[in-house]
Amino acid sequence: MAAHTVYKEPAPLMDRENPLESMMSRFNIAAEILGLDDETYNVLKAPDKQVIVNIPVTMDDGKIHVFEGYRVIHNTILGPSKGGIRYDKNVHLDEVKALAAWMTWKCAVVDIPYGGAKGGIICDPTTMSAGEIERMTRGYTLALKDIFGPDRDIPAPDMGTGPREMAWLMDEFSKTNGMTSPAVVTGKPLVMGGSLGRTEATGRGVMVSALAALKKLGLKPTEVSAAVQGFGNVGSWAAVLLHQQGVKIKAVSDISGAYWNEDGINIDEAIAYKNAHNGRLEGFSGATPMNPDDLLTSAVDVLVPAAVEDVITEHNAHDIKAKLIVEGANGPTSASADPIINEKGIMVVPDILANSGGVTVSYFEWVQNKQGFKWTLEMVTERADRIMSDAFEKVYQTSQKYKIPMRIAAYVVAIDKVAQTYKYRGGF
Ligand code: NAD
Repeated sequence: MAAHTVYKEPAPLMDRENPLESMMSRFNIAAEILGLDDETYNVLKAPDKQVIVNIPVTMDDGKIHVFEGYRVIHNTILGPSKGGIRYDKNVHLDEVKALAAWMTWKCAVVDIPYGGAKGGIICDPTTMSAGEIERMTRGYTLALKDIFGPDRDIPAPDMGTGPREMAWLMDEFSKTNGMTSPAVVTGKPLVMGGSLGRTEATGRGVMVSALAALKKLGLKPTEVSAAVQGFGNVGSWAAVLLHQQGVKIKAVSDISGAYWNEDGINIDEAIAYKNAHNGRLEGFSGATPMNPDDLLTSAVDVLVPAAVEDVITEHNAHDIKAKLIVEGANGPTSASADPIINEKGIMVVPDILANSGGVTVSYFEWVQNKQGFKWTLEMVTERADRIMSDAFEKVYQTSQKYKIPMRIAAYVVAIDKVAQTYKYRGGF
């Protein structure tokens, strides 16, 4: 592999732009546009609740390691809080707070009856055995048994967690409460109440919103090219579904490096390769290795960042050539890049809109669990696509009305819904 494709560790949070500050700067602009009153502003600017837990876990070598975990409930005015759990060594409370607030705005944008939350544990799951991860997950669940609940706070997977961890969480919660509670968590395996269509839901929402944006720009999917950063759940599904719509995917990347093919990458081949090689693209021969930093500024029409936060910054935004950015990841664009992107006239489908297909189908999973009934894939897909298209149109119309970028428009739509609900519910 060429030396320049080697993945660099992200800088520790405090050396990067703080995602909480990035989130707050957009929130402040939207609040100003809406003329949000000081009282509601003060309620919304900070999380309702932040819980820090210490989780002692017996490691395989017999020693006890204490992990630090978080659960942040940003807001519950619209309904029980919803948000994933991240296992990563770079988990930071400020990051969890930003992600929790984004969940509030995301659920409000797609108009589903949830508030926002997020959780995380500082750990490196890649160096832990399945048994260690299971004991840590069960310990975390037990520590938060009074926070979680089908009508209180409903976790889901995020980076480093998946159906396996959600199954352990559901089991531990159910045992603790003496009843089977599938609706306490979403993203479960299909056999124990997971929803059809959940795996591809976020990538599908990215595709649906990308197509809606291309239409507004007067571009046909069959005439545009794209680059996708991140080839995990969101990136690979976004790539395959965009590819099926005729978009030429010229570049993809993952933690192992970035890969370019001027004639378009065969995405089905790339996915088959990744599945056969430990989830990594390293060594994929259907494309040429490129510098991962160059992927974001490569000559494509559509850019889909679907990996980590703060990859589009004031340092590289000037060089972006894409006409459209569709944010599969949470927070891939730092606030300092916004004015540069707006100046260049690039349309952005922001994270809280573009990647909300995931929470939408999580909501469907929860509804099915509560109904004790399973929907067909067609029902899930058709309803999720409609929600995504309606949300896109609402945000687009708001951006036209106030003459503001799509990102700020999404915040305006979300904050307006939450603020209006506060007006009706009152009760301070
Ligand atoms: P994942 O763990 O399945 O995949 C992450 C991918 O990004 C992997 O291919 C990894 O190799 C790659 N990656 C990591 N660091 C990278 C880097 N610096 N450069 C290039 N590639 C890199 O995670 P995911 O579920 O696909 O989540 C990706 C993003 O989407 C996260 O920001 C997550 O919060 C967000 N998101 C996910 C969902 C969901 O349903 N999975 C929903 C909404 C938002």
